[in-house]
Parts: sequence; structure tokens; C-alpha cells
Amino acid sequence: MTDLERLGWNPFFASHFTPYEKEGLIPARITIEQKTHFFAATGEEELRASLGGKLRFEARGEEDVPGVGDWVALRPTPGEQTATIVHVLPRKSKFSRKAVGRERVEQTVAANIDLVFLVNALDATFNLRRLERYLVLAAGSGAQPAVVLNKSDLCADLSRLVSDVRAVVAQVPVYVMSAARSEGLEPVRNSLGVGVTGAFLGPSGVGKSTIINRLLGREKLKTRTVREYDGKGRHTTSYREMVVLPSGGILIDTPGMRELQLWEGEEGIEEAFEDIESLATTCRFRDCRHDKEPGCAVRKAIEEGTLDRGRYAGYLKLQREIERQSRSYDTRAQAIEKERVRKLTSDQKRNTKKR
Ligand code: GDP
Ligand code: ZN
Repeated sequence: MTDLERLGWNPFFASHFTPYEKEGLIPARITIEQKTHFFAATGEEELRASLGGKLRFEARGEEDVPGVGDWVALRPTPGEQTATIVHVLPRKSKFSRKAVGRERVEQTVAANIDLVFLVNALDATFNLRRLERYLVLAAGSGAQPAVVLNKSDLCADLSRLVSDVRAVVAQVPVYVMSAARSEGLEPVRNSLGVGVTGAFLGPSGVGKSTIINRLLGREKLKTRTVREYDGKGRHTTSYREMVVLPSGGILIDTPGMRELQLWEGEEGIEEAFEDIESLATTCRFRDCRHDKEPGCAVRKAIEEGTLDRGRYAGYLKLQREIERQSRSYDTRAQAIEKERVRKLTSDQKRNTKKR
């Protein structure tokens, strides 16, 4: 096992890196993203890395701009602890956020996560519908989902809740724990073997930090901070956003990941609501809206009690949300594309005039 493999390096990334190796570049994984630069771990050291000119000026979109967890091809600066990011290797999975700032429509908040733990608290805030929404989000990312039910110490009717959850999540593993009491953490720790990257997702207050602290066995990522000046002479402290656990796995915990609430799209919804989607294919009419149409299999299932009314309502709500979102996303994307074409063509006109 090499130091790179401990960071998650595997044959997939190695095969994509071959052409860059010939150019004398080195592979590294992004551990911190800051406004103007990144930190990247090479297996031996951590280098402060900036985007190369080509990436900065010719980036086609978020696939060319790295996020935490990305594997990149670096050109180290001789004699310094810095490097230039020349290329971002293809991702196995990604979580992204839509429309931040003007120039970027989509932004990667974390990349190459193998396992995403959807964290819920077994207290009054517990909400099955919300869990379904997080499953949709996870399904669109390419990461394997797992469900964490934390604060088991606060739950009076544990077995009922757990079986409700299992009924909704089907094949997805469910881990019940009390992070505060350090109970039930072992299976999660074991699922994060050496070289496996995990992340915890869920609303604030469910216990993500507590779980992460327990897995780290020390006080949070805070204890390993990077201190430096931000160019304006101000002192900034930033947190490690990717760390290797004492037990082997790798954890990604970025502010972006913590704020993530957007739902990625239809691919996800189909997977998470496979039962409803496949029911709908048996309606008499292909474009059935499951409203008043005759021969509607979805309505029949609700009436017969084989499809939970609440689950169906959640499905409808989510569908509307995705539609609304993709509409506003399209409008923005169109505006940006229009502006790009306008700039390109006006530059060309100017150039032709000069000649
Ligand atoms: P985060 O916002 O998801 O990171 O949640 P935190 O880790 O900050 O936890 C929120 C609150 O829940 C804190 O007061 C924790 O002490 C508490 N908490 C975390 N895990 C448990 C647990 O297993 N049981 C109980 N009762 N409280 C917990
Ligand atoms: Zn129908």
C-alpha cells in the first residue's frame, strides 16, 4: 500500500494520469479549497497549489475546476512548497452546487466520495420524507449511500422507527448509533476501510460533527489547521476539509457539503422512488398524471394501501421542486451562454475590423 493509495488513489485515477506522468507532473489530492488557491496532498507532503493559466482561462466548466477530493496533475515549483494545478482527473462521483457567482453555473463542493452517510437524528426532528430527499441527492452523485440514525439514546421506539426507515431505503445499509455515547460507531468505521472516502450529509444538529470527532478520536479537524496570510496581509485560519482517519478511511467535510440542500435531478428521483416509477408504467395511459385518469395504478395502490400516501406526496413535492429548479437553472445557463457568445462574436468583429 503506497501513501497515495492511503489517500484514495486507485487504478481508475492511475489510468487517467498516465499521459501527465510522461510530462513530469505528479498526482495529488485536493484537501482544502480557499478563495484563491488550494492545498493538495501528494502522499509525502501538502503543497499550496494554484490553478494553472490554461485551467483558469480555458476552463469549460466545473469539470475543469477542482474541488475538495479531486485528483489533480500538479507541476511542483522547484525548491518551494507550492505547485501549479495543470489538470483535474475525471471524477468517480461528485456533489455540486448550482449557480454561485456569475461566471460559474455549477460548482463542485466535493469529489470522489465513495460512501455518503445520510445522517438523521432519532429525536423529534426525525423526518422520513427528508431522508428520501437526501437519498435522491445521493443517488445523483455517484457515491454509495448509507443511512445513519444517530441519537438512538433519545428514541423510545427504536425498532419501529428503524423498520420504517428500512422499508423506505430498501437495499441501502442502515447504521443505528449514539455518537454522544460512542455506541454503534464501529460498523461505520469498518465500512471506511483504507483508501475509502466518506462524507456525512444531513441537516445541522443531527450530530455530524460529533460522529466525525469520534471517528477521528480527537477534537475535530480544528486541531490541524493551516495558518497563513491571504494576500491582503490578513491572517486566515482554515480547516482541513479532507483528513485520513486513524483507522484508515478518508473523510471529507467541507462547508459546501454541509450546506448542500439542492436536489440534483431526475436520475436520482427515479432510483429513490423506483417503486412509484415502476407502478406508474402500469397505468393505462402513458402520460397518466395519477389524478382522475381511469386505470391509474398509482391511485389504486394508494387506495389499497400498498403505496403510502405520505411517500407519494413526498414524491410529488420533490418532482415539483426539481422542475422549478431546473427551470431557473436553464434560464441562468442560457443567459450565461448568450453572454459568452456575444463576447466571442464582438471580439471577432473587432479583430476583423483591425485587419
Ligand atoms: P451537526 O450540526 O450535525 O454537526 O451536529 P453536532 O455534532 O454539532 O450535534 C448537535 C447536538 O447534538 C450537540 O449538542 C451534540 O452534543 C448532540 N448529539 C450528537 N450526537 C448525539 C447523540 O448520539 N445523542 C444525543 N442525545 N445527543 C447527541
Ligand atoms: Zn396513473
